[in-house]
Amino acid sequence: MAIVFVFIDGIGLTDARSDNPFATTAMPFVQALVGAPLLHNAVGRHRHALLKAIDACFSVPGLPQSGTGQTALFAGIDAVGLVQRHQSHFPPTALQQTLRDQSVLRRALMHGSSAFANAFDGGFWDAIATRKLRKSASVIAAEGADVRFRTVDDLVAGQALSWDITNDVMQTRHPERVAAIDAYDAGVNLARLAQGHVLTLYETFLTDLVGHGRSTIDAATVVTRIDRLVGGVVATLRPQDSLVISSDHGNFECQSDPSHTRNPVPLLVVGPACDTLHEVTDISHIADALVRVMRPE
Ligand SMILES: [Zn+2]
Repeated sequence: MAIVFVFIDGIGLTDARSDNPFATTAMPFVQALVGAPLLHNAVGRHRHALLKAIDACFSVPGLPQSGTGQTALFAGIDAVGLVQRHQSHFPPTALQQTLRDQSVLRRALMHGSSAFANAFDGGFWDAIATRKLRKSASVIAAEGADVRFRTVDDLVAGQALSWDITNDVMQTRHPERVAAIDAYDAGVNLARLAQGHVLTLYETFLTDLVGHGRSTIDAATVVTRIDRLVGGVVATLRPQDSLVISSDHGNFECQSDPSHTRNPVPLLVVGPACDTLHEVTDISHIADALVRVMRPE
């Protein structure tokens, strides 16, 4: 039994509006699962998948943000309610120890091993050491679970993924070593490496960057990457494995506005985990539900 947990930063679920790239770009692999692209009208239980629209706002005013949203996702706690605000970028200091101790990556260790599929190069760790970058929720959670951080060598060996799915940035930084990869093949690699673990986390924040207008990559390209990633994972899952995809807040689905949105976020599940994850109604419920999938009652 393996769970592939894909966190896609800043994607909400809404209708087929003209500024929603999920409505204007074909998603054949997602469509095969839920009968439509990643839109609100596809919500429901399908033959091979579950799509839910779940809350990321927690009745707290303002726009939902990554620091509290990702803490809620990975630690399974009502991070927004606990600090009574939406905190951007990085987890609230008061919740970082909880994130280390109680993350879904850490809790998975009771049932086997967990993995963090993203590759990090020396430049990333230098930036952390010199405080040019701060640790994201995922990095804090992985540290707390003592999960090995994958490297450029792992990426080259097909044992890791790049945060932008197709290796664009890693290729620029390491042109002599890293080649581009099709998003479908990245998905195949992800599902394969996940087979050695109970839980494998992969995160991409390309969607949030594009939603904020901070990337030169166009939204349609990003939609195609996500769709092909899903296609590669689903084609490689064994019958006992599940794919679980969710997000921390809306943003990308509303290209006419560079801010986050209060739209619900998608919870897309493929595989046996559908039976448990259908109970989830907000992003803080996902971690507990994943642990229940690891240990069926
Ligand atoms: Zn953002």
